[in-house]
Amino acid sequence: MPLSTMKDCLFCRIISGEIPSRKVYEDEHTFAFEDINPKAPTHVLIVPRKHIVGLDEAAGEEAEILGRCHLTAAEIARQRGLGSGYRTVLNVGPDAGQSVFHLHVHLLGGRHLTWPPG
Ligand code: AMP
Ligand code: ZN
Repeated sequence: MPLSTMKDCLFCRIISGEIPSRKVYEDEHTFAFEDINPKAPTHVLIVPRKHIVGLDEAAGEEAEILGRCHLTAAEIARQRGLGSGYRTVLNVGPDAGQSVFHLHVHLLGGRHLTWPPG
């Protein structure tokens, strides 16, 4: 197991395949899978393979991987024909509803999304 993988982290265990998921995409840096409790017709989570707790913990050296997660989200949105609109969301900390402490970008689409979010 790479040093950047945490044995008690749900998303690290999903990336390693120890816990099953409905994989959507993977490459060298990112891994994407269907959210188990979808809030929209498309609800995919895009995570860096490297264990990063959240946006608040991300350092400058993580700038590229943060960008890659978003570009992966855009690519999945294109593949799914979400050209009329979609949203990427990072929940940061308990007040924003972050419940899994391995950084993840939510990709939501396939329905009209209201603003502001709740
Ligand atoms: P957040 O609340 O922003 O931390 O997002 C965590 C997301 O992970 C939620 O939308 C959950 O539905 C989702 N989730 C939790 N466990 C799993 C799992 N085993 N497989 C896929 N998604 C999950
Ligand atoms: Zn992790």
